[in-house]
Amino acid sequence: MSWPADYHMHTPLCRHATGEPTEYAACAVALGLTEIGFSDHSPMRQDNFDEWRMNADQLCEYVEKVCQARRDWPQLTIKLALEVDYLPGQEEWIRELAAWHPWDYFIGSVHYVSESWAIDSPHQLAEWKKHDAYEVWAMYFDWLTRAADSGLFEIIGHADLPKKFGIYPDRDCTSLFDRFLQTAAKKNVAIELNTAGLRKDCKEIYPSPKILQMAKQKGVAITFGSDAHQPGEVGMNFAEAVQLARASGFAECCRFTQRKREMVKF
Ligand SMILES: [Zn+2]
Ligand SMILES: [Zn+2]
Repeated sequence: MSWPADYHMHTPLCRHATGEPTEYAACAVALGLTEIGFSDHSPMRQDNFDEWRMNADQLCEYVEKVCQARRDWPQLTIKLALEVDYLPGQEEWIRELAAWHPWDYFIGSVHYVSESWAIDSPHQLAEWKKHDAYEVWAMYFDWLTRAADSGLFEIIGHADLPKKFGIYPDRDCTSLFDRFLQTAAKKNVAIELNTAGLRKDCKEIYPSPKILQMAKQKGVAITFGSDAHQPGEVGMNFAEAVQLARASGFAECCRFTQRKREMVKF
């Protein structure tokens, strides 16, 4: 068995990760991974939108760091990507970003459910107390569905991120998941198994086994990502992720090259 590619890794340019891309690549090689992809937090049109992403004029530096890792580790396939924040109204900006570099894929992620609240930010945990959990989950999945429908992304990131702090609605969310996955299936958008959830309060891979089983039934494809914010997190908990994917019926995952998808066994 070969490890699936780790398609979700960050760099210090986002201001909350440590280690250079070449160091992440070194860890990947040591683990026996054959393919990885950098997908750092994308810049917004407005610089300093928040304190956890690069500014637009740092994109070239980002690409250069990834190219340096490629030169240092020729035995490893290294993809160039971004984790792009989806907020309604940002579509034009995301299309501009897409044209600037030869990206292999874009991960579309929803962190914000309004212009000012990133639901996964520990600094904004107090916001959760001001809102009904179901309303937050519903808003989040509405934007996630729009992201899948936008045609801007190959992959949707950490599909049930609102569970990060272990705050769950007391109402059934099946219809929210259903609508999102229906759209992902129709638009051929993959979802990622993101192992960072295991390192958070929810102590569970994103997304849940229930969502993964629904995804399999609807024909939604998958990728794998550690969401590494330091080199030691590359490929973290991939054995669990592979086991979960297999238990949900998956035997193949996606690989992307210049935004073209192919399926590979894992
Ligand atoms: Zn991050
Ligand atoms: Zn994210």
